[in-house]
Amino acid sequence: MKLLRLPRQALADWLAALGRDAEVFGPKATAEGPALASLAPGETPDEAPGPPKAPLKTFFFPQPETLAVFSTRRDDPEAHVLRPPRLEAGRRVVLAGVRPCDARSVVLNALPFAGDPYFQARCGATVLIGAACAETCGTCFCRWTGGDPLGTEGLDLLLHPADGGDLLVEVLTAKGEGAAPEAGRPAAAADAEGLAARREASRRAAGRAPDPRPPLAAVDLLALHGAPFWGRVAEPCLNCGACTFLCPTCYCFDIQDETLRGRGRRIRYWDSCMFPLFTRHASGHNPRGAKFQRVRNRFLHKFRYFPDRYGPFSCVGCGRCIRECPVGIDVREVLREMLAFAGRGA
Ligand code: SF4
Ligand code: SF4
Repeated sequence: MKLLRLPRQALADWLAALGRDAEVFGPKATAEGPALASLAPGETPDEAPGPPKAPLKTFFFPQPETLAVFSTRRDDPEAHVLRPPRLEAGRRVVLAGVRPCDARSVVLNALPFAGDPYFQARCGATVLIGAACAETCGTCFCRWTGGDPLGTEGLDLLLHPADGGDLLVEVLTAKGEGAAPEAGRPAAAADAEGLAARREASRRAAGRAPDPRPPLAAVDLLALHGAPFWGRVAEPCLNCGACTFLCPTCYCFDIQDETLRGRGRRIRYWDSCMFPLFTRHASGHNPRGAKFQRVRNRFLHKFRYFPDRYGPFSCVGCGRCIRECPVGIDVREVLREMLAFAGRGA
């Protein structure tokens, strides 16, 4: 792993240089906290703790997204033949100031989207520059879910604050090597040792945090499905879907065809398992017609179905759903309920 020391005042110049052949985005300060936005030359990412409100899936799994185009003209012999859309060919994106939890969400989403050419193309065209979390906010719990405030999963480069106001730049991938700052000079051995010590301290803190994964993997699924607390957990839920739309790892979608004046588009929209219509069959039957069934599905998918299929939880502990739920449903409390049911407190 290559480690560079970058003078802080060189950060803006570096991002501006990257912006010559890519669009650069990052968190920007707003009255409501950091928001993901385009960074103009000279701008640098906001450093407020915690992730911005919008999740990174906005870039990799945008909404709406045209999957195919077709003609509906009666005189067109190829009417209704699906053709690839004119995608943003050659569009290159740099995402700067990415928190480690959000970078990890891209890695987790790449599991179900492994065969999705749209998602994969965007991954290939994007450079992720992380910002290590020097402090966490009250709703973050990344260590419960296998993450780390200094984690590198999914990142091409990771920035750390260093003494004297400088930055340490970890170069993590070949893509990161190609985007590394020219003004950065090799870090001193003391910088590398300091970073290794911070990583070790973070690992020790992770060891003290609860790890809900083994007990939840071991509990009988049907028993957990029938646990008595789901009705109580779901009772205040409005089924507004805010938690799923803001969650970086929720990826439910719907596909619809839209036609206008002889032309059609097949479009993918985000959807939510919290909406009753999401699972309603054409017959009118709804296997998740009751609210508690939808709430239960959201949590079981994140903490049992997804790990059963792919390994990790489908949650990075970013805390967005805790911050934004209008009725205060807290995923950490739900995890505690699940663990208590599994016979293990947290
Ligand atoms: S944000 Fe809260 S109220 Fe809205 S669907 Fe999610 S859990 Fe229910
Ligand atoms: S479930 Fe909540 S805490 Fe977990 S990744 Fe989604 S928004 Fe973040």
